[in-house]
Amino acid sequence: MVSYKYVILGGGMVAGYAAREFVERGVGPGELAILSSDSVPPYERPPLSKGFLAGVDSEDSILINPESFYAEHGIDLRLTTRVVRVDPNAKRLFTSAGDEFGFDKLLIATGANVRMLETPGAALDGVFSLRTFDDARRLRDASKHAQQAVVVGGGFIAMEVASVLATAGVKTTMLFPEDRVWMRLFSPEMSMFFARYYQQRDVTFVAGETATALEGTGNVTEVVTSSGRRVPADLVVAGIGVVPALDAVSDSGVTIDNGVRVNEFLETGRADVYAAGDIANYRDVIFEKQRRAEHWDNAVEQGKHAARAMLGEREPFIHVPYFFSDVFDLSYEFWGDAADADRVVYRGDVSTRSFSAWWLRDRHVRAAFVMDRPDDERERAPVWIAEHQQVDAERMSDETVPLSDLMVKS
Ligand SMILES: Cc1cc2nc3c(=O)[nH]c(=O)nc-3n(C[C@H](O)[C@H](O)[C@H](O)COP(=O)(O)OP(=O)(O)OC[C@H]3O[C@@H](n4cnc5c(N)ncnc54)[C@H](O)[C@@H]3O)c2cc1C
Repeated sequence: MVSYKYVILGGGMVAGYAAREFVERGVGPGELAILSSDSVPPYERPPLSKGFLAGVDSEDSILINPESFYAEHGIDLRLTTRVVRVDPNAKRLFTSAGDEFGFDKLLIATGANVRMLETPGAALDGVFSLRTFDDARRLRDASKHAQQAVVVGGGFIAMEVASVLATAGVKTTMLFPEDRVWMRLFSPEMSMFFARYYQQRDVTFVAGETATALEGTGNVTEVVTSSGRRVPADLVVAGIGVVPALDAVSDSGVTIDNGVRVNEFLETGRADVYAAGDIANYRDVIFEKQRRAEHWDNAVEQGKHAARAMLGEREPFIHVPYFFSDVFDLSYEFWGDAADADRVVYRGDVSTRSFSAWWLRDRHVRAAFVMDRPDDERERAPVWIAEHQQVDAERMSDETVPLSDLMVKS
């Protein structure tokens, strides 16, 4: 059995950024191992539904660290290695190939598995989901010959994939059960803006419906919807969410609760076992609640934070949730958590491509969406959320009033 001082279980985004932090803090050769079921070194996932899918980003350009980085720094990166069991008492990991690895400290970073369509016909050729490099490569190749696509889902992955396909000239339909696009995040006004933007770019929305069957012989040819509508498609992509990848740790004794439950120090409660990224349901000290985030910035920052924690720097993870997306020629950012907001106010014109939305509770800023706005807005958004800043909500939409004049002392 090989043993390491530090082991990262999972070779995704958390692992890539944690490894970099370990190196910057002087981890010694042979001290760190990454055990990953992936076939490629840690890579950035956001480009998989953007530049990589569009054929703009190369395979090398989306690696978090160059391929040679791991060997150069004495990190044992074991690819295509699936861990099937963790024993935190014995400090051992067991793989599907029958190997055993020991650790002093473990970081669980298995991320999430993509939710698959369970509709009849989902196994036909031409039906895709998107989580891994291989998924993206296959989808990119198939999209080159596609004429008509149906993207199932109304969240950010579905929106991004639809925008890439439509830009490539594929006649694209988005099909989702909600009344409007990305209902969980967008206000009705924002959904309306995006619906119009997509329709102007020849994307058809079928809202309030699900896919009940995929039909075809060999390759998919049609999607049947819950109202009986038949939408022709030679390509179907499901963007219907993810579930925490818990297989390896489900009987390890860590608390399973919408992922792996950790405190604000990213500690699982089992000695020397941490969790970070999409798998971690952590204590968010800003919003005073447990949170599991499925976003890039969370994976980057928790990966670095967990590495420092494993090296002995015990600090709470204090972080404003953050998310970004690119669709067509638009880029937007979102900070915070709008769940308990009691109003939303806009700056700029929400019917144009340049506006920001501010979610408030008792006039305290809880969340902000910023698209193509002055730097001051994107800079203040996370600060105001972290500080629970109270603002003059009545004057907030008045763009002649600088943001600094809106701050109310509490
Ligand atoms: C297509 C796509 C586009 C995205 N775009 C954005 C975006 O625009 N903005 C944004 O904020 N976020 C985006 N995200 C989300 C972001 O990429 C994730 O939040 C991030 O990848 C999470 O990192 P992670 O390390 O927790 O998990 P992952 O990156 O999923 O890594 C998990 C790793 O664990 C490995 N693993 C799992 N189980 C085992 C096991 N049993 N044994 C060994 N290894 C195992 C996997 O192979 C993988 O290497 C996107 C995600 C996808 C898929």
